[in-house]
Amino acid sequence: MSKSSAFDSLMTITKRPPIVMVEGQGSWLTDSSGKRYLDFIQGWAVNSLGHAPTVISQAISNQAARLISPSPAFYNQQAIRLADLLTTNSCFGRGFFANSGAEANEGAIKLARKWGSLHKQGAYEIITMINGFHGRTLATMSASGKPHWQGLFEPKVPGFVKVALNDLDAVRAAITERTVAIMLEPIQGEAGVIPASQAFLRGLRQLADDHQLLLIFDEVQTGMGRLGSLFAYQQAGIEPDIMTLGKGIGGGVPLAALLAKEAVCCFDAGDQGGTYNGNPLMAAVGCAVLETMLQPGFLEQVCDRGAQLAEGLRRLSIKYGLGEVRGSGLLLALELPAGNGDTIAEVAREQGLLVNAARPDTLRFMPALNVTKDEVALCLSLLDQIFAQSV
Ligand SMILES: *Cc1c(COP(=O)(O)O)cnc(C)c1O
Repeated sequence: MSKSSAFDSLMTITKRPPIVMVEGQGSWLTDSSGKRYLDFIQGWAVNSLGHAPTVISQAISNQAARLISPSPAFYNQQAIRLADLLTTNSCFGRGFFANSGAEANEGAIKLARKWGSLHKQGAYEIITMINGFHGRTLATMSASGKPHWQGLFEPKVPGFVKVALNDLDAVRAAITERTVAIMLEPIQGEAGVIPASQAFLRGLRQLADDHQLLLIFDEVQTGMGRLGSLFAYQQAGIEPDIMTLGKGIGGGVPLAALLAKEAVCCFDAGDQGGTYNGNPLMAAVGCAVLETMLQPGFLEQVCDRGAQLAEGLRRLSIKYGLGEVRGSGLLLALELPAGNGDTIAEVAREQGLLVNAARPDTLRFMPALNVTKDEVALCLSLLDQIFAQSV
């Protein structure tokens, strides 16, 4: 078959504009025509320190010159250091590293099922949330509650029971002797930045304790400083038994983590693994990212920029008669009652601003965590111009 465009050698996986990105610096992305974009998507909350930060390029080049992959059959210094940093700065006892959020969540599901087989007479069912998102492997798609995915790639992996977010009675009613865990995102990201209430999260902790269930937080999007605290669970004042991290922990490279309380770490040798898991090249990046976030003032800065962006979005919402501003820290959304999110995102891109229409009625903002005050102000003024034309 002849190819009609330069893109035809790639499988179709999503609708993409005919733009090729060639370079990124901080909050700015440049395409092959030289056009620059203020990036408030940042690879879907992945580039936590912006594009091509020096700490990451240095961590990669230093580690690449020293040791890339001794294989998971041996310990390496960077994986040990990253696990130490993560457990020291969280409520968890041990970690396992993965290459994507979906893979970390697969690990969480496997860990919960293993724990159920050891401690709960083989209980394996996991209660998850309608509209939740946990990844694109078969099991994590099955755990997800994206209505769009119903009927896709059947049969799904069994063992996931879906309930509505923030409906504690529904969770209680779904618990049976087969239930081993409850799994959710503290803020549903892909669904359009829909927060679980603090009361719901505390209620889940209580239900889990009462019924001897594991509470699993998927913090792939909310973790690593995104909400202005290192992890979202800290804001709810409770501790999950298992937490997964992805996206921001790698600052743009494929790195994810599965963390668990010591008592839950029940994998035996051979239960879990993977060729690239915990390789020192990616772990060195994770260390550089986390050490940057732990520097004094970093998280305060996330809160300040988040407040600036949220406040500006609220002003625009009032000015143009738009909807609610949701989210926390630098994971924010603006509701567009007209349902014209895709058009707005497209117009914004043409004018040099990248924002994501998570849903037709929702714009999502996920800038770099070190975005500057001027960049937030520029984003808001570009949006003001765009709404003036398009609303
Ligand atoms: C992005 C995301 C995932 C999947 O991560 P991948 O790295 O794309 O596999 C899982 N859970 C949540 C909450 C996410 O936002």
